[in-house]
Amino acid sequence: MADIDLSSVGKDFAGTPALQDITTRFHDGEFIALLGPSGCGKTTLLRLLAGFEMPDRGRIAIGGCDVADAGRGAMVPPEDRNIGFVFQSYALWPHMSVRRNVSYPLEIRRLSRDAIATRTEAALQATGLGDYADRMPSDLSGGQRQRVALARCLVSDPQAVLLDEPLANLDVALRASMQAVFTDFHRRTGATMVYVTHDQSEAMAMADRIAVMDRGRIRQLDTPQNLYERPASRFVAEFVGRGTVVPVQAHDGAGRARILGAEVAVNAAPQSRFVDHVCLRPENLAISETGDLRAKVARVTYLGGKYLLETVLDCGTRLVTETRARFDPGAQLGLTINAPWAFAED
Ligand code: ATP
Repeated sequence: MADIDLSSVGKDFAGTPALQDITTRFHDGEFIALLGPSGCGKTTLLRLLAGFEMPDRGRIAIGGCDVADAGRGAMVPPEDRNIGFVFQSYALWPHMSVRRNVSYPLEIRRLSRDAIATRTEAALQATGLGDYADRMPSDLSGGQRQRVALARCLVSDPQAVLLDEPLANLDVALRASMQAVFTDFHRRTGATMVYVTHDQSEAMAMADRIAVMDRGRIRQLDTPQNLYERPASRFVAEFVGRGTVVPVQAHDGAGRARILGAEVAVNAAPQSRFVDHVCLRPENLAISETGDLRAKVARVTYLGGKYLLETVLDCGTRLVTETRARFDPGAQLGLTINAPWAFAED
């Protein structure tokens, strides 16, 4: 089992906290994405899991074994953690062929020649590199190099794989096709994967759960669907997906609220008795002649089969909605609010 457990983990750089009081568990076999704005601590968290950095506070356990304990000053080095790494920079050995890049970790472990050949071949086939085995890394495309890094992980049979923006160097089309490669890799290895990314759509497409980070803390660790549909805070509501957070003017505690002057039904977590904001996603706003809100279209973006409308209310609030019908900038329309998600701003 390779659950990853963090207890009250903190890390400072020059007296400034980069990670603060992180207590969480990534379950065995889960695909976790670390998502958040630049500087929020994603890479630092990954480096602590890898063993490249020591936490200043707290404890980290992988597969039930303590790998770092700030209290005891104890730390297991990266090479003894049975962890695979995949970096943006690929980190391949430039003087070795693709096959040798993949087989080398097994050579170090002194496996038999037959075992090395069998496992290397299987990893090359699984990552679609069979035809490239004798090439040098310099003769490969970016996507192919990243496949070599994955194949090298695969042969080592790691209990966890840490990935630091592995697709950041690739163009948009290749990134999309590589997502399938990562998902397939995850299924084959069954390893716990922790994947750092700036790219929300990438995290949404691949991760079982996403840890949304902000200023050194995990603000919400949840499924992509829950982060979008049931954000727990203003930060998450605004960071994940499109939408506008607006205040609740009154709430009866039983699912009815006044928002932007309109009386509407809202959804909220059962335990949240107090809510003061809602997140209005495009799907929470229907265009209708008799709509509660009068809005003017400020901007229209074609999304393929539908349009994204950015609208402005008289009070200046900007709301986004989607429509199949075309509207021109400047058009006036009515909007009806439909069951938005309500939460307490923290
Ligand atoms: P990005 O998305 O831009 O890569 P990130 O979320 O991965 O950012 P980190 O690289 O973990 O963020 O950095 C978190 C904070 O710690 C930042 O304020 C950063 O400047 C600081 N930091 C990280 N590494 C060091 C270091 N070696 N020395 C000093 N400060 C550091």
